[in-house]
Amino acid sequence: MRKTIFVVVVAVVAAALVPAVSAQAATTATVVSPKRPLNVRAGAAVWTTSLRTLPNGAGVSIECQVKGQLIDQGPVRVTDQWDRLTDGTYVSDAWVRRAPGVPLPACQPATAQAAHATPTTAGAVASGAIPLKTRGGPGRTAAILGALPNGTALNIACQQRGEVIIGTMRTTDQWDRLDTGAYVADAYVNRGVTPPACAASPAPASTPAVAPGTEAGRWVSPLPGFTARPGFRTPTNPNHVGVDLMSFVGTPIRAAAAGTVVEVVCNIEAGHSCDQVGSASVGGCGWYVKIQHAGGVSTLYCHMVHRGVVQPGQQVAAGQVIGYVGSSGNSSAPHLHFEVHVSTPPTTPGNAVDPLPFMRAHGAPIG
Ligand SMILES: [Zn+2]
Repeated sequence: MRKTIFVVVVAVVAAALVPAVSAQAATTATVVSPKRPLNVRAGAAVWTTSLRTLPNGAGVSIECQVKGQLIDQGPVRVTDQWDRLTDGTYVSDAWVRRAPGVPLPACQPATAQAAHATPTTAGAVASGAIPLKTRGGPGRTAAILGALPNGTALNIACQQRGEVIIGTMRTTDQWDRLDTGAYVADAYVNRGVTPPACAASPAPASTPAVAPGTEAGRWVSPLPGFTARPGFRTPTNPNHVGVDLMSFVGTPIRAAAAGTVVEVVCNIEAGHSCDQVGSASVGGCGWYVKIQHAGGVSTLYCHMVHRGVVQPGQQVAAGQVIGYVGSSGNSSAPHLHFEVHVSTPPTTPGNAVDPLPFMRAHGAPIG
């Protein structure tokens, strides 16, 4: 028999204290915009309101940087960083020359808690290239109050059930009520802890259009057994708003989720045919199919070997064959070019999101 003495060590970890107001030193920099004045905007994207312009060579006082729309047309650098000026306005860092070796701090989420009786949960908009709409209630039928660019810091007061939204972060019927009283779909909010439920619902929650986990919300790979290489909107190819899955001619292409076929189209440069092998010098995505899914999501499947085997208006199930891999249009080898768009219709280059994280978040990783 051996006597054992247990020693219990209790570690006390002090919580880090964050100052409510940060006193960030401003960095001075110079606008480089020789051809036209630079727009100073309300947010970190070109679709936000232009508040004023600055001429070439103007000095700016930068407080911090936020991630926003990728700008590849600026003379200084290709970047998705936007500079928040000391007056709270934004300019793209692609048009700003700064002293080398002086890093700019990332803008801290707004710490407006002192002004509120109840604490809020910090979050950030994760909507990709399109701004996230703020609404008067927890559903897309509620009035649009505004739009917040990707990366915008949020103070979430509480959560409320509403319309199911398939977003970049999750598929959920939860909507976040912000400290401003407006609502945003929690599907597009990057956050840590789950905000508390709203105590008294100011408006009755609308009936969810699609219950999570049901057939309508299930996602599958459009090309099982093949993987996509990263390639969404790269610095060298910023107009490539999808990913490519290399494959073989005749491999079945499947609907990534249930939905309605909205387009079965030959998209090709004049003088060429979608029914022959394309090339890198021919424009267009060849034979393609577009499907509209629940939650304002659309998917696009390009370069099919011949016309898709579905018709516009047809309902398809997740995994249903819609066409076959080919190399029609702007394609140098048989592959599927796959796009995911949010807040559709319509589909535009601006509302495309990277299919790799989107499909991973929806339980159907493709690369
Ligand atoms: Zn492609």
